[in-house]
Amino acid sequence: MLSIYNTLSRKKEEFIPLEAGKVKMYVCGPTVYDLFHIGNARSFINSDFIRKYLEYLGYEVTFVMNLTDIDDKIIKKGLKENTSAQLVAKTYTDEFFKDITTLGIKPATIYPRATEHIEDIIALIQSLVDNGTAYQSGNDVFYDISKFSTYGKLSGKNIDDLMEGARVEVNEAKKSPLDFALWKGAKEGEPFWESPWGKGRPGWHIECSAMSCKHLGKTFDIHAGGSDLIFPHHENEIAQSEASTGQKFVNYWLHFGFLNIDNEKMSKSLGNFFTARDILAKYSKETVRFFFAQTHYAAPLNFTSEGLDSSKRGLQKVQNLYERLLDLQQSAVSGGTQPDFNLAGYYQSVEEALNDDFNSPRALAVVFDFVRDANRILNETTNPAKEFVNEIMSFVQKIVIGIFGIVQLEKSNAADPTLENDLIELLISVRTQAKASKNFQMSDLIRDELKKLGIILQDSKEKTTYKKQE
Ligand code: AMP
Ligand code: ZN
Repeated sequence: MLSIYNTLSRKKEEFIPLEAGKVKMYVCGPTVYDLFHIGNARSFINSDFIRKYLEYLGYEVTFVMNLTDIDDKIIKKGLKENTSAQLVAKTYTDEFFKDITTLGIKPATIYPRATEHIEDIIALIQSLVDNGTAYQSGNDVFYDISKFSTYGKLSGKNIDDLMEGARVEVNEAKKSPLDFALWKGAKEGEPFWESPWGKGRPGWHIECSAMSCKHLGKTFDIHAGGSDLIFPHHENEIAQSEASTGQKFVNYWLHFGFLNIDNEKMSKSLGNFFTARDILAKYSKETVRFFFAQTHYAAPLNFTSEGLDSSKRGLQKVQNLYERLLDLQQSAVSGGTQPDFNLAGYYQSVEEALNDDFNSPRALAVVFDFVRDANRILNETTNPAKEFVNEIMSFVQKIVIGIFGIVQLEKSNAADPTLENDLIELLISVRTQAKASKNFQMSDLIRDELKKLGIILQDSKEKTTYKKQE
């Protein structure tokens, strides 16, 4: 029995889908105005892992991830780069797809874009205006939160407390400072669509209500996103959808813990901001996925290069077993020895762990027991039967590769970014020593030759880092 921690009820609940054998799942995707960062990557990878486990259990999963392709940040970037918001969104949508492919993320069933659902969004806003939950003010339309009596039920926030905190904000256009925009009237030079309230564009919250309903129905099983979205984004989605349909919006709310870097919030100004691409230049996707899977999806996680290095070392044991099995599949013959190995027990333990709110660290501990025990049995068996080797490999395929994605399918040393990284780091340390002994000819030579290869060294007081030329 699968149980899931539901943010809405604040407890673990047995998972019972609306329709037997099927799961309808919606995850808040990226705002496409830049390359996504390693914190976003954690949420995307965790949603991929959860989807893959649901599929492993035999569910047919309809997995929807929206792309926010119109938003203040996109417009701002367009103005800054002297290009259109549309082109910014197109560019970073393409880059998003490149990066999720590199991360081994299975494509969603549908990636709805806000700009392709303007009609649905307008219809939803209109239904809220018609039933008195939303009101027009100038060219904007706002949601009137006083009309939704259970506002705050997801985040556990109380309207009076929120009002206290919001008093400072003065906005003549709104009835209450907590009311939020469903439709934003266009300002000079901004992209717009025609609507019953004039030229404008949708607010961010309404797009997820409209697109999830369109692709998954009025009520669906699972809605996920980073924990930063619980309030106000998901609270507002509930208010919009339930006020419009009169039905429960989502049965299970699932939230991903936040990723911090060296115990600080990631931010460009602190200089601790890494895109997924920066990290993937130095570590394989398997290392990154393994690093994430070692922490429960809902827990906060601190990201350090030491943590990644240790994941990389730890993972080698799994990779070695996989490569050993590949070799054995070539050499083993039918009718060899069939050793006594309780494979079913490992499947069961992995399932027990993952059925308990997708407890990946516990499941990985079972995987490591399996790797140790499988190696021991193979050491002890001189002529293992091909069938036995295949059964062991099948566990690796279904669990280690199928759910976690932490084995490199091509034998290592092919295009291993981790080896490349180690060699560059080695050259950097040789250069640091050359500088220390005042051998500047050598240190400049290393810098210049690396530059010819597209590797740019960046010296700071503490250390030298590198970037690859775009
Ligand atoms: P955004 O592009 O900022 O709208 O974020 C896309 C997804 O990544 C959302 O589900 C966010 O909640 C999630 N997210 C953003 N920052 C982090 C972080 N530091 N750690 C984990 N998830 C994050
Ligand atoms: Zn959303």
